[in-house]
Amino acid sequence: MDTQHIINLDKTYVWHPFTPNDLWLDSEFEPIVIAEGIGSTLVDTKGKRYLDGNSSIWTNLHGHSHPQIRQAIKNQVDAIAHSSFLGLTNTQAPLLAERLCSLTGLDRCFFSDDGSTAMEAALKMVIQFFQQTDQKERTRVVSLSSAYHGDTVGAMSMGNSKLFHRHYKSVLFPVSEVKAPSCYRCPHNKAIPQKEESRSCRKCQFECLDSVEKAFAEIQKEAAIFAIEPKVQGAAGFAMQPKGYLKKSTSIARQAGAKIVLDEVMTGFGRTGSTFAFQQEDLMPDVVALAKGLTGGTLPLAVTLCSQEIFNGFSGGVENTFFHGHSYTGNPLGCAVARASLSILESPESKKARKLIQSTLEEEKKVFWEHPHVGDVRQEGLILAVELVKDVETREPFPYEKRLGAAVCQEAAKHGLLTRPVGDVLVLMPPYSSTAEQVREMVTILSKSIETTFASL
Ligand SMILES: *Cc1c(COP(=O)(O)O)cnc(C)c1O
Repeated sequence: MDTQHIINLDKTYVWHPFTPNDLWLDSEFEPIVIAEGIGSTLVDTKGKRYLDGNSSIWTNLHGHSHPQIRQAIKNQVDAIAHSSFLGLTNTQAPLLAERLCSLTGLDRCFFSDDGSTAMEAALKMVIQFFQQTDQKERTRVVSLSSAYHGDTVGAMSMGNSKLFHRHYKSVLFPVSEVKAPSCYRCPHNKAIPQKEESRSCRKCQFECLDSVEKAFAEIQKEAAIFAIEPKVQGAAGFAMQPKGYLKKSTSIARQAGAKIVLDEVMTGFGRTGSTFAFQQEDLMPDVVALAKGLTGGTLPLAVTLCSQEIFNGFSGGVENTFFHGHSYTGNPLGCAVARASLSILESPESKKARKLIQSTLEEEKKVFWEHPHVGDVRQEGLILAVELVKDVETREPFPYEKRLGAAVCQEAAKHGLLTRPVGDVLVLMPPYSSTAEQVREMVTILSKSIETTFASL
């Protein structure tokens, strides 16, 4: 494999997502070219091995090249890779839909390709539902500050990322933004613990909910959607919600007549400890969007699940059709793999492995508190987030342009760990194939990389 040739072609012809072009094209910068994956390990073209510390951006579940997943792909490819889902069905999608409905308690599956399209479909389906059920005034969306629901225009509109969305304001529709709970920097949290997770020793009266109350009081009968990433807001910097927030905030939304749209694109499929994050707090959503882990992180497939009530809003005439879909909707290859992935997920071995990864992270994370620039260490299930700050007393962040999170991750890559920060929040999200030893190694490399990075400043 001529690695240099690949890199030259890449730097000449390719444009990478969420990547500063100047840094990528810098002649000093030599990108890693991944050639293989096995279990929790990625191998580059030079044979160097890396632990996949963030499950290839939150997508992988069972490790790379899992035999059951590979077999499912082979079997389906031998039958057919794709046929249209417009006016036809296939042998895989209905079987997958049945399982997803039974896992979530929802009634109908609308398939698409990725997290953004799953949220876009969620938005359009609820808006059209209200138009067709005599509630035409219900058109407004309420969502959390810093929310990220994807990169298409509707998904961006529902999100509130200042950095990502600032150039598109002119084409985004307005939403009511409510203050996302973030106990670490919450002005209402009377407990200001040092070296302990702010969320677990929080002292407050859930004042963050006032903002939700206020938003719905303002829009009243116009409320259509309350969109939320349940338990953990990923791209917002792994902001983790205190126990009870999800139930309480969605109850307020429900009382106002809004539909609850949960974005489980990142949190789904065991990531937070339960199969879906919302299952930790007794509530029933109207719509759930799933993507990233749906195929175990192998093929692009997404689904928007909805209630029978919403589905029924689309009967009563051809004009009530949901005029929405994608060329690859219901892709049989993706659906076959998703079914295999669910079988692995529900196996006793996977459940046991996940428990061990979670408890290993719990034990090992203590080491991060020892760093003078680590302000918060938060964990939800199999997600560990470590926030770097300039000053741990005042919690003042470093300026964004310093890109310290990125510097730490570059250092970690040298030592055989790949992960990607969200600003200055470092993330460990191991594939479920990881052994306790591999998880400990991820923690050790990341922790040493923080030390080395700060020592060289
Ligand atoms: C990644 C992500 C999306 C977007 O999914 P894509 O597959 O990248 O389009 C939406 N919502 C959440 C919570 C995500 O983490």
